[in-house]
Amino acid sequence: MTCDVKSQTREELEARFKDWGQPAYRASQLLDWLYVHRVTDWEMMTNLPKPLREQLRQNFTLHALELVRKQGEHDATQKFLWRLSDHSLIESVLIPANPALYGDASDRHTLCVSTQVGCAYGCKFCASGLDGWKRNLSADEIVEQVLAVERWHRDESPESSERGASEREGCSVAKNADALTLPRSHAPTLPAPPLQHIPLRLINNLVIMGMGEPLANYDPLLKALRILNASWGGGIGARKITVSTSGLAPRVRKLAEEPLQFRLAISLHGATDETRNKIMPVNRRYPLKELVAACEYYQKKKGRMITLEYILIAGVNDQIKEIKPLASLAQRLHAKVNLIPYNHVEGLPWERPTEQAQQDFLTALEKQKVAATLRREKGHDIDAACGQLRLKTERALSSTA
Ligand code: SAH
Ligand code: SF4
Repeated sequence: MTCDVKSQTREELEARFKDWGQPAYRASQLLDWLYVHRVTDWEMMTNLPKPLREQLRQNFTLHALELVRKQGEHDATQKFLWRLSDHSLIESVLIPANPALYGDASDRHTLCVSTQVGCAYGCKFCASGLDGWKRNLSADEIVEQVLAVERWHRDESPESSERGASEREGCSVAKNADALTLPRSHAPTLPAPPLQHIPLRLINNLVIMGMGEPLANYDPLLKALRILNASWGGGIGARKITVSTSGLAPRVRKLAEEPLQFRLAISLHGATDETRNKIMPVNRRYPLKELVAACEYYQKKKGRMITLEYILIAGVNDQIKEIKPLASLAQRLHAKVNLIPYNHVEGLPWERPTEQAQQDFLTALEKQKVAATLRREKGHDIDAACGQLRLKTERALSSTA
């Protein structure tokens, strides 16, 4: 099967070009077209000779995600529903001006990306797993979520006509003429693009918290993250990339061996096996003892703070009796706790606690000297919890079929 060019690292492309008798700078030119200009057609790569473009076309695909629906207002959380080449649907969520949960206060845009179509882990409260697992995403389908949102922002967002300066680590592009020197271009023959075509880097913070269990799709995920992190690719700092897992303990250990310094978030949602078993089947396979040991290993290896995600679900895990075990777990792991009010999922019986109950839980946790935040869910109105938009659309489509 032909693979997509956006699943290739720089080294792989250079090796391929070498086999084809092409000079090394051709790989840089191609990478510029993909990751600076984000083109979706080989024909737009005008500084590559026609026969080379043809050779590329015969050896690689160049798929772009097709936007099916977008929900949410400009300046607020926006959700994108994409169609893949096999017609599967996936979601990405763009969160502007991150409230400093996963990154720094100065972060401008966070993108939440999916890693699988559906999910096999079947957490009882989650829309993504409701219809089971369909398939893993390939590395390029993960990479393309970032590029497609940035392309949408460049071409269709209300800001696209009035944009100003934008920056991302290692690549800053402004309106003034000096910015025409694109720092990542190594191509000797790449012509400077006209001003209106200078691409903007939008996303500087990535959370792997969309549909699917990222660590169950380990190799494609890691490849995508290497591409999104590389200075020739997405240019997103590893410390600005948060991988979230429901608790695949052996894979947490594996991630600890990776050279890149990703942030790790654990979807805990219960600090005892009793509570976790009720809502997360994965806990029967990897009970807390095993998961916590893997987190300690990660922490020791990386020297990085772990985040514990804790959705507050009324009557399920929001009782004050949960505070003690949660606090002792957080202290043992030197972790901070993100409390997230549950987003109601159509068809499921779960609800979020009252604001007072949420606040009481936070206060009780802080009393135990735990660093904790309570997220005011920005995407509440647009089915922002992972998997909901896709589920609704799939169900609407099948009822009309
Ligand atoms: N599978 C991974 C990553 C995707 S889920 C994981 O479980 O960590 C991303 C986060 O959204 C998880 O913390 C998950 O528990 C949470 N989530 C799922 N459904 C939710 C809902 N209805 N309301 C709030 N958070 C939800
Ligand atoms: Fe899968 Fe994560 Fe949803 Fe659980 S919370 S079903 S692991 S996507």
